[in-house]
Amino acid sequence: MKPMTKLDIRAAEAIYLENEVANLTLDSIGEAVLRADSLGKVTYLNRVAEKVTGWSREEARGRPVAEVLRLIDDARRAALDTSLGAATPEGEAPSSTASGTNCILVRRDGLEVGIERKTTLIREHGESVTGAIVAFRDVSAERARSLEMSHLAQHDALTDLPNRVLFNDRLTQAISLAERQGKQLAVMFVDLDHFKKINDSLGHDVGDKLLQSVAGRLKACVRRSDTISRLGGDEFVVLLSQVEHAEDAAISAQKALRALTAPHTIDGKSLDVNVSIGVSTYPNDGKDAESLLNRADNALYEAKQRGRNNYQFFRHEMHARLADRQSLEADLRCALGRNEFVLHYQPKLNLQTGQITGVEALIRWLHPQRGLLYPEQFVPLAEECGLILGIGQWVLLEACQQARAWRDGGLGVVPVSVNVSTTEFGAQDFLSGVRAVLIATGVEPRNLELELTESVLMHDAEAAVVTLIKLKAMGVQVAIDDFGTGYSSFAYLRRFHSDALKLHHSFVQEIAADPRDAAIVSAMINIGRSLKQRVIAEGVETSTQLEFLRHHGCGEGQGFYFSRPLVAERLANLFKVGILDGLVH
Ligand code: C2E
Ligand code: MG
Ligand code: MG
Repeated sequence: MKPMTKLDIRAAEAIYLENEVANLTLDSIGEAVLRADSLGKVTYLNRVAEKVTGWSREEARGRPVAEVLRLIDDARRAALDTSLGAATPEGEAPSSTASGTNCILVRRDGLEVGIERKTTLIREHGESVTGAIVAFRDVSAERARSLEMSHLAQHDALTDLPNRVLFNDRLTQAISLAERQGKQLAVMFVDLDHFKKINDSLGHDVGDKLLQSVAGRLKACVRRSDTISRLGGDEFVVLLSQVEHAEDAAISAQKALRALTAPHTIDGKSLDVNVSIGVSTYPNDGKDAESLLNRADNALYEAKQRGRNNYQFFRHEMHARLADRQSLEADLRCALGRNEFVLHYQPKLNLQTGQITGVEALIRWLHPQRGLLYPEQFVPLAEECGLILGIGQWVLLEACQQARAWRDGGLGVVPVSVNVSTTEFGAQDFLSGVRAVLIATGVEPRNLELELTESVLMHDAEAAVVTLIKLKAMGVQVAIDDFGTGYSSFAYLRRFHSDALKLHHSFVQEIAADPRDAAIVSAMINIGRSLKQRVIAEGVETSTQLEFLRHHGCGEGQGFYFSRPLVAERLANLFKVGILDGLVH
């Protein structure tokens, strides 16, 4: 037997209390009570019932219950039968009661109140029905609270967008519908580039507001029937449920790109964000929620690789590429331990005297199956998965040990240059790591040059200024690598305290072909000289380039024209015989 609820008890009590004293008692209870006669006319309302229905006891008396207690079904919005007959479901015992939890009471003034009710028939000597008691209570606040709870469980607190659980539900439903109707749908992954940087530099409050702004704009540019969800962090996913052709999804992706990349105003400041979008479509790319999400994620990865503010549709080769990347990453994790890295060294020359001024250490990976791999093939990956820190430490130590070995082998002092990536340069223990290697190998600081690209320096320019000052204090040389390809401002260039500028080979290689490039190279040489920097040209491949560079006062050069990067042993030979006898005319 079910335990008796409060309403059950009230209804039972009210049956037996049919006099003034009883009415007084009923007035003092918390539930609403309505009593009707055998004809279904109201005979009594207690205080609470007066309040809940909006009817006074006097006015209600003699009216049909259905008029005073206008009930509708919450879900169907249809009127509910409140006649006494409806209170006794067919075939039930004579003293039975009827209850309803999902109903709404329309008050006399038209306001709707969610109620829970219990109707009990009064029978004389257990025989004919002489009336009924309806006990009810206002449950609107409880219902609102439980609705709110279920909303909270299914939505993201920051943006109020559906969360992953609800999104997956909707996607699964949309897939079955699309399957039945033979339709398509699309899943669109939207990711903000460098959101972490905004969060770190401007604070979480600004980051949160930016995410809310992004959510608002996404909502504005998709259909009401589409579902947008924040999967966490800066990652959003959109279910485009009405897609006739793939082009429809492309239009949505373009719209989203345009909407999100327009400046966001947060706390009176204008913020730009870059966005990458990956799209997968049903049924082409996958038949279930998981594979569609997975493929959209693959496409997103590809979009990120291609640079900022673009969208990509999933293509099957992306999957293969990603699988390949994953296997390379797994190998990369073991490469240091297996001693698979090697450094090649490329000499730099004084363009006037032809003397070797130093060597640049360039990493290679002798992959057991794939063969010799160049930095472009694995350094960005190592950066992404954090392995670059260990690799960078190895490069620095190996290069300095080699310089020491050349010196000990009687080849004189050979200054070495080592390339440093963004992650390494920003690491807390970067400076102490450099110091430790110098001490361990006995290489003099002025014979170590660190090469930093403009993007490494500009990643956090203010912090870079400080680190460069400390490097300078240690006596280490600093070169700005690939100069001219990044976005460093002249204001920073002055503050960066570098010793050398390395001109990117793309400029050098166009010297003879394009007079404008020639003009740029000569201007860059002049900038370097006026900032009291050594100027080193990268990628010198021909005598024409060499002549031009010398003529315009470029101090040093490096390139295939002089020597390719070589293993250490072969370089030792070069030191002995020198490069290109005919260099100095
Ligand atoms: P980078 O520092 O600008 O190095 C110069 C690149 O130009 C090297 O490519 C070198 O082989 C190539 N090069 C030299 N002479 C010529 C030439 O005459 N013509 C042409 N077309 N290219 C020439 P590599 O070794 O493939 O390295 C590519 C980049 O990878 C480097 O550019 C550097 O940014 C990065 N890298 C290399 N080694 C390391 C390392 O140990 N750590 C880090 N973080 N990055 C490295
Ligand atoms: Mg370099
Ligand atoms: Mg370079």
